[in-house]
Amino acid sequence: MQRLGATLDRIDRKGYGAYRDLSGTHDLGHFVLFMDRVQRDPFAPPSLIRIRTKVNPFDPTLFGNSVRRVAFEDFLTRSVEREIRRVVRGNRGSGGSGRVEIQRASQVVLPRTSMVVEPGYVEARMAVGLPARGRSVDASAARTVLLEELPEVVRRGLDPAPEGGVDVERAKLHVESVEDADHLRGLLPGLGLVAFVADGAVLPRESGASDRPLREGAVPFGSPEEHRVEVELPNKGVVSGMGVAEGVTLVVGGGFHGKSTLLSALSWGVYDHVPGDGRELVVTRGDAVKVRAEDGRSVSGVDISAMIGDLPGGRTTKDFSTPNASGSTSQAANIAEAIEVGTSLLLVDEDTSATNFMIRDERMRELVRREPISPFIDLVRPLHRSLGVSTVVVVGGVGDYLDVADRVILLEDYAPSDATPRSREVTKRFPLRAPLTQRAVRPPRERAIDTSSINLRRGKRQTARGRGLHTIELGRERVDLSYLEQLAEAGQTEAVARIIREWATAGEVRGVGELVREALASVSEKGLDSLGNYRGHPGEMSLPRAQEVAAATNRVRPLRAAP
Ligand code: ADP
Ligand code: MG
Repeated sequence: MQRLGATLDRIDRKGYGAYRDLSGTHDLGHFVLFMDRVQRDPFAPPSLIRIRTKVNPFDPTLFGNSVRRVAFEDFLTRSVEREIRRVVRGNRGSGGSGRVEIQRASQVVLPRTSMVVEPGYVEARMAVGLPARGRSVDASAARTVLLEELPEVVRRGLDPAPEGGVDVERAKLHVESVEDADHLRGLLPGLGLVAFVADGAVLPRESGASDRPLREGAVPFGSPEEHRVEVELPNKGVVSGMGVAEGVTLVVGGGFHGKSTLLSALSWGVYDHVPGDGRELVVTRGDAVKVRAEDGRSVSGVDISAMIGDLPGGRTTKDFSTPNASGSTSQAANIAEAIEVGTSLLLVDEDTSATNFMIRDERMRELVRREPISPFIDLVRPLHRSLGVSTVVVVGGVGDYLDVADRVILLEDYAPSDATPRSREVTKRFPLRAPLTQRAVRPPRERAIDTSSINLRRGKRQTARGRGLHTIELGRERVDLSYLEQLAEAGQTEAVARIIREWATAGEVRGVGELVREALASVSEKGLDSLGNYRGHPGEMSLPRAQEVAAATNRVRPLRAAP
């Protein structure tokens, strides 16, 4: 504390660069402050710091296994974020002076670099804008931020009550809720289910722009009797809800009756949610992929022949590349790539699908003989039979799908019911005259990518970084991830960028699945910190899924890849 204070006194009013003298470790009594990287000027990205408590005062059961530990770290990240907002005044001079930040967490619980809980300490990683007046050191403001505000944030956000402000009971509920969800996801395969939606779950969100629960007028989920399943969870005990069985599940209903909301909740069910989200016990197989049309995306060497036969001009689709895919070819590529990296569940919403990919009706089958596209309706059963890939598909307009569904869930006024028997009657009364073609499908051939085709050059430097949630910058290239609907937070995007950077630097020809599995195995062994740039402070990262790592890589242009 003395060294920090003395240094500040000495550098007061000097040029901003003098802040460099703060680099290193400071003992602040109750905790240790590491100044890992000091910014060059008040307008540069903020300085990176870590705060490490000298003991870990929490009950070890809160972080006794890896799931609990991730949940507890998530809890503490949110706790510190909340206390920063309460305690820190922010804006104490020019540029980012006086700002204090910690990684922003979304509604889902993920391993992140923001917080580390070890038996002997708790460490929070943050960013601080060191205060300046103009371009000189403002020592008095720095004193307030570092020696008053920060210790208060630590006391309120990282120390247990009653001395500190952390409500240990709430922490316990947080950890237990996440543990239950994780356990439930583990039960799904043994129960023959691909998803589970608990009774009482709140699925709708506040708005299209917010992932928080709808507060007013939300109709809680109630499972139809025919699909009701009871599960026993380690903390919450017996819970009932709708089990979505393997195979082909159709979700039908009139417009605005909650179909897309249900499907979207399922797509987020690959992650655990924070208590209060409403979807804590909406759980899906961890490898589920929501696939949609994405015209304009680039495709490199993907085998889409299961879905699309040879194209005009004899162009093969076993090794299909284009800088600008159509609605249907992009959706076919999205499915082939999902299967390539590994998935047991596809989620498809008519709203975001290419019509000619979903269906071809009798008249078109009759009129147009040269159609390379096998519509999804012909594939959805074989995908399950031959490849073990189940599908949940939302349809409002295309009744032909009733013929290929193992079960039909009807949503009316947001309430689901089992419409399977009625759908059987309907298909009998209105049979299709031309039977659907149902052929076997082969898995797409796995591609090898040449990682030296990923160019990180930007002038003299090599860059690979996340830019918000939806963009990765690789050299001069910007990879657009807007359509990856299961990317949860910017920290994942950043982690993916760094994984791709390592590949690009190594420059090898390797299978996509192999590369992704290897990268994530290394992260799980060495921790997310191992993707960091700097010694000490690794930056803001969250763990991505294999599916998003692969999907981001597949969108790099120009990527050299071939089966
Ligand atoms: P669909 O896909 O069937 O057309 P959506 O899922 O888009 O319908 O839902 C339409 C609207 O209803 C959305 O604004 C959504 O937030 C809202 N909504 C969905 N489910 C519920 C629910 N359980 N309770 C209240 N509102 C809901
Ligand atoms: Mg919809």
